[in-house]
Amino acid sequence: MSDTKLMPIPGHIDPVPVPRDVTPREDGRVDLIGLPKKRIAELFETAGLDAKAAKLRAKQVFHWLYHRGVTDFEAMTDIAKTMRPWLAERFVIGRPEVVEAQHSSDGTRKWLLRTADGHDFEMVFIPDADRGTLCVSSQVGCTLNCRFCHTGTMRLVRNLTAGEIVGQVMLARDSLGEWPKSGQADLAALDDDLVDDDGGYSADGRLLTNIVMMGMGEPLYNFDNVRDALKLVMDGDGLALSKRRITLSTSGVVPQMDRCAEEIGVNLAVSLHAVTKDVRDEIVPINKKYGIEELLQACADYKGASNARRITFEYVMLKDKNDSDEDARELVRLIKHYKLPAKVNLIPFNPWPGAPYDCSTPERIKSFSNIVFEAGISAPVRTPRGRDIDAACGQLKTAAEKKSRAELERLYAEKEKALG
Ligand code: SAH
Ligand code: SF4
Repeated sequence: MSDTKLMPIPGHIDPVPVPRDVTPREDGRVDLIGLPKKRIAELFETAGLDAKAAKLRAKQVFHWLYHRGVTDFEAMTDIAKTMRPWLAERFVIGRPEVVEAQHSSDGTRKWLLRTADGHDFEMVFIPDADRGTLCVSSQVGCTLNCRFCHTGTMRLVRNLTAGEIVGQVMLARDSLGEWPKSGQADLAALDDDLVDDDGGYSADGRLLTNIVMMGMGEPLYNFDNVRDALKLVMDGDGLALSKRRITLSTSGVVPQMDRCAEEIGVNLAVSLHAVTKDVRDEIVPINKKYGIEELLQACADYKGASNARRITFEYVMLKDKNDSDEDARELVRLIKHYKLPAKVNLIPFNPWPGAPYDCSTPERIKSFSNIVFEAGISAPVRTPRGRDIDAACGQLKTAAEKKSRAELERLYAEKEKALG
């Protein structure tokens, strides 16, 4: 059973189901994944340890969970043998269930995952020569309905919990074999200065080096859980990934953008995709609520950006829709007008069954890119990855029932009504 309740999100956006920080399990045990160290200590104290012991145990357990990646209390060798069953009776170390793992011919990997209450979502790993990027989902489905995005044809089923979000990163590490070797931990592990991890724990030589919140869902409509999960990802005692290697992508939920800089400090990507009201209203309908000027002003005010940390503007290339030279020039004008430290990512449209658009021609994309580039703004064209397994941008969708055009239009109308 899903344990969700309606909670209002600050700002003038509509309430969506938000799971509680501790999701009760049928067996009464508590899943520790997704909880900060302090909360773990509180739970240990509630379970009967005195405050000092709870704090110490929480520190040890946290290290095993996020630094070593163990999934069994028995493997926590610096915790007394008698203590381990005590923990196992009360707590679990969860991972999303893997329903299917697929491998693309270009090395991209996609996992179909399932929550404990039976909802499916996806995560994608994209290896490159100099980096490996994990594309993480924040929601099952999406409240929004960008017309070129397959996820947009789903309803929002529910927000993912912080545990389910950080759980994706942990599962990727499991699958890629990227946890430090176990068995070498001892009490020294309690002293950060003395930790001796020979298991390739530095960012160098790692497969998974970067995280993008660009899977299913709109991360700024699930901000608290995304923030809590990314804090665990960035925690030096935890997964220890630098905030510079994490990017959050939003379709433009203007009232939440500030919080991203203030509370997480990761890189920001904005799904702009169009430069006129008419076209953006059509393809990114949240534009009717927060228009281009408001969005770009929020980008100009965004405290997390600088010339060294530019905002990425994502721009999907749709044939005869948003891809003219005039569009490119207007994009340049807007970026300059708002004095934005910007780079532009041109994403060739990735098709999905029933999609109402085609991808622009390579010549058109080149011409668009040249105009932006010649104005001094970096505008690389993203090579689509994992298209053969439907893992490319905008192709993610689960429970792949095919909707008729009329059903889809009804769903879109409902979503837009809810958006207000
Ligand atoms: N909801 C967030 C993040 C997820 S989508 C957002 O919209 O920003 C990640 C990126 O892929 C977004 O820029 C999105 O607009 C883009 N995208 C969606 N569908 C696509 C498609 N079919 N082809 C190419 N890019 C797509
Ligand atoms: Fe949702 Fe992003 Fe897809 Fe738009 S592009 S429907 S916001 S996942």
